Amino acid sequence: MNNSLKTRTITRFAPSPTGYLHLGGARTALFNWIFAKKFDGKFLLRIEDTDKSRLNKKALSAIFDGLKWLGINWDEDVIYQSNRNKEYKKVVEKLLKEGKAYRCYSTKEEIDKYKNKLLKIGKTTKFVSPWRERSSGHKKNDLYVVRLKVPETGEIIIKDCVQGNVTWNCKDLDDLILLRSDGSATYNLAAVVDDNYSNITDVIRGDDHLTNTARQKLIYSALNWKLPKFSHIPLIHGFDGKKMSKRHGAVSINSYIEEGIKSSALVRYLCQLGLDTGNDDLRSINDIIKDFKIEKIVKSPARFDSIKLNDICGKIIRKTEDKELLKDLIYFLEYKKMPILTIKQQMNIEDALPFLKIRSKNFQELYDQSKFLIIKDVSKASDDYKNLFTNDNIELIKSLSAQLKNIKWIKENINDTIKSFALKNNKEFKDMAKLIRIAIVGTTNSPGIYDMMIVLGKSEVIRRFTSLGI
Ligand code: GLU
Repeated sequence: MNNSLKTRTITRFAPSPTGYLHLGGARTALFNWIFAKKFDGKFLLRIEDTDKSRLNKKALSAIFDGLKWLGINWDEDVIYQSNRNKEYKKVVEKLLKEGKAYRCYSTKEEIDKYKNKLLKIGKTTKFVSPWRERSSGHKKNDLYVVRLKVPETGEIIIKDCVQGNVTWNCKDLDDLILLRSDGSATYNLAAVVDDNYSNITDVIRGDDHLTNTARQKLIYSALNWKLPKFSHIPLIHGFDGKKMSKRHGAVSINSYIEEGIKSSALVRYLCQLGLDTGNDDLRSINDIIKDFKIEKIVKSPARFDSIKLNDICGKIIRKTEDKELLKDLIYFLEYKKMPILTIKQQMNIEDALPFLKIRSKNFQELYDQSKFLIIKDVSKASDDYKNLFTNDNIELIKSLSAQLKNIKWIKENINDTIKSFALKNNKEFKDMAKLIRIAIVGTTNSPGIYDMMIVLGKSEVIRRFTSLGI
């Protein structure tokens, strides 16, 4: 086909702003974004906010922030369904006029009663509205919903690019609601109208929407609209194979920002989860886009393992330029509302990054490792200090500092001085090193003592040693 005649690929991510962006949503967004990028198409963002009672403004900004943090940029203005109710109503009017939809005045109580009756005689609880074939007999101000007239017989077949052909019998589906009694559109109606309006060519979403797709196909057919291609991706499960929930720890993207995960690590891992692409943890996003194929999506649910995520994150941190890591660390601290780093601290951390980054799997660990550059008062830092720093030990470190004062501040000289000092004072080198570590940073969880001493500089080390116990 002539390239210019080919339909341009358009995908979308359509979150409901009722909760925070979670891992499954982020992966759906990512796959849609990658798919659009691969085919030089467009990726749209649509906010499905027709249900005002469930709207959560904080969740909405968390969705935007989460997507931006992951590097998922959308094309064009964000579409808000709450602005489009007129369009939905127009479509419903057309369906009503053509007899493909009807006003249903059954109350909730009537429907419940109907279903309970069926339940008692062991039948499926599909509700068949008496208003399907009738339009009079209601009072003027009675509330109604608009339902689609689902064919009584026949099959609905969805040719899903991941799941293969999936078939439903029309007789098993009830007449789905298109407009609620408050006049707002339901998800199924609004999704179809908007996917059609935006010329979406490919719908990639979680497989929990498969049944909705069957219903949506009925709306497409009633309107004679062209169906997009569908790909329903398996959900993400926890490490134990069960559906992901709070029990498995972090599920929202913000909690990963707070844990100090680098966004590119989460992107890599989400792409490995459920995509049969091999296990190269350091593949560039461009390579991921180049290799992306819907056929590579694995049909079984993916299992999320945060140890693996941290491993990938550690590998990426090690490979990342120091300047970029410093920026990430600053963002992480800001996000957690921690004290901001002074320029001097930033410069010191940048100097220390070559040895800090090989010890850190995430920005929390990187921050913990860089504490020796941030803390001022070692004695308040930990119990290690309180347990170890008897008066004798304080004196010992003070006299070591007198020895260190006059040497040239390089690793070999520091090492020689500490060794001969330990020997003279009948101390094991490792005990001496432990005292020094705690005198510098207050804890034994820290980078190597020489690395810390060199970056801190002689005068700061001497200052810490001589102010012990004060
Ligand atoms: N608002 C739906 C959701 O958050 C969108 C589903 C779809 O992609 O159509 O699950």
